[in-house]
Amino acid sequence: IAEQSILEVHTLARTFGGIVAVNDFNLSVRAGSIHGLIGPNGAGKTTTFNVISGFYAPSRGKVVYLGEDISGRATSALAELGLIRTFQGTTLFHELSVHDNVRLGCHRSAKAGLVKRILGTDRASEEAAEQKAHGILEFLGLENLADELTANLSHGHQRALGLAIALAADPKLMLLDEPFTGMNPEETRRMIELVKLVREEQGVTIMLIEHDMQAVMGLCDAITVMNFGTLLAEGTPEQVRNNPAVIEAYLGSA
Ligand code: ATP
Repeated sequence: IAEQSILEVHTLARTFGGIVAVNDFNLSVRAGSIHGLIGPNGAGKTTTFNVISGFYAPSRGKVVYLGEDISGRATSALAELGLIRTFQGTTLFHELSVHDNVRLGCHRSAKAGLVKRILGTDRASEEAAEQKAHGILEFLGLENLADELTANLSHGHQRALGLAIALAADPKLMLLDEPFTGMNPEETRRMIELVKLVREEQGVTIMLIEHDMQAVMGLCDAITVMNFGTLLAEGTPEQVRNNPAVIEAYLGSA
């Protein structure tokens, strides 16, 4: 099972009018791995994430998740299957407490009736969400922030909260969009530990777009490099770091 891929992208293309954002791109992500997607600005990373997570339909090619062709499915349907995406600009309720943000995430993912969830009339699911939120915050070592107003959190803690909310959706595959952007070295170090923890303790496969090369190289098992919308290189951090085509692409874009 360790060698099995959880996600495959086959000859993917996505165009916007005359702009070719992604073209003939292939990718395979091993179940249980931490997989980096890197490349110079405009390489097509975000577009690829958008297609995988159902925000955009592919123009050509397909996305296979857990052996099933999921191309063009809605984000909500994919979330039900455990494919969860986080965003660079966090999508938190700043006027609510940390715990309430995670609790809402738990509610959203609960299988109970939608109306009951929204109205909060279902006591049993209310309590289940409450407990699950506590469990997640404890797991990530954030329980001391539970009652804090989200607006008052540091940037690093807000991003960690984003991770907690993603966990509330019971992910199998988590797509993290630049998880270390804007962080100081200490925040980055802590976030790396959290990502590792999620993989190790919850068995979640993690794919991430990131520009912080030091973080990517230290964290990922496998790395895919995109350039001009297509695959430039792939392999272990060591292989990718020493690949002349990769070095060239980064120097060329600097
Ligand atoms: P960065 O690292 O700078 O975020 P990226 O690798 O994520 O870049 P994309 O954002 O996927 O790259 O962009 C790839 C190309 O597609 C760029 O030329 C971009 O301008 C274009 N593009 C992306 N989304 C759209 C869109 N909605 N409409 C038109 N062009 C788009």
